Amino acid sequence: MRRSLIGIGLFLFFGAFVHETAAQDRLPIIDMHVHTMDGSVEDQIAVMDEFHIVKAFLSGTLEEVYSFTAAAPGRFIPSPMFPVYGINGFPDIDSLRVEYLAGRLQGMGEITSQYLGIPPNAPSLEPYFALAEELDLPVLIHIAGFGAPNPTFRLSAGHPLLLEEVLVRHPKLRIYLENAGYPFLHEMIALMMQYPQVHADLSTITRHVPREGFHDYLSALVRAGYGKRLMFGTDSAPSWLPEAIESIESASFLTDEQKRDIFYNNAARFLRLSEEEIAAHHQE
Ligand SMILES: [Zn+2]
Repeated sequence: MRRSLIGIGLFLFFGAFVHETAAQDRLPIIDMHVHTMDGSVEDQIAVMDEFHIVKAFLSGTLEEVYSFTAAAPGRFIPSPMFPVYGINGFPDIDSLRVEYLAGRLQGMGEITSQYLGIPPNAPSLEPYFALAEELDLPVLIHIAGFGAPNPTFRLSAGHPLLLEEVLVRHPKLRIYLENAGYPFLHEMIALMMQYPQVHADLSTITRHVPREGFHDYLSALVRAGYGKRLMFGTDSAPSWLPEAIESIESASFLTDEQKRDIFYNNAARFLRLSEEEIAAHHQE
């Protein structure tokens, strides 16, 4: 109970802080990590409107994803999440292709194979990376040194350098790693240095890691030269959004321009949004 009261207090505090900022600036944000299963369509759209989230990379089961896109056309980048422990396995590749060619799906992932102890270089993932490269899809994959409790989750399947063979085989793959591979800092720096197509999101790291530790990690990646390849995300639960925004806003080592890069510009470039769409986002 006490914990929840503190949580509500923090939510109200951060909510007031961020809401005021957003209301003053009205600068758009792209959320690169949203799941359908963490809230209703109405809740998700309401929180996006409140904090000026103009677009979100949305992953979940196809049925859920399609109900979100029907409710808010153009607002989401619809993507299949797989394989999900106890929910779904690896989707049929030919059926997926049909969905992409019809425009009903636009991204791939979150690929959650680490939750089944499957490393990114496993043969079972190869057809999906090949399809993503062929169709030029943005791909989100969970490769990191932590994850939700799950009996088949394995840290050892989340080492960033396990992605290297995939990047060599698919040099045009547009891929981003959850939580910038936290806490594998040096491996991430090496991966991003050698493979310029690698991007990263800053999602649950904004709240599951003590703030100082998160800022240390973010600061190290920016100092290493990758401030243009880090993208804001929440990993859902709309109630976490204020704290996620505040975690970037409060990073005193970032310039305003670097914050805008993380909140919007890097994702806009990575997603190849049109100039018209970017202009429209800044007029809303
Ligand atoms: Zn996720």
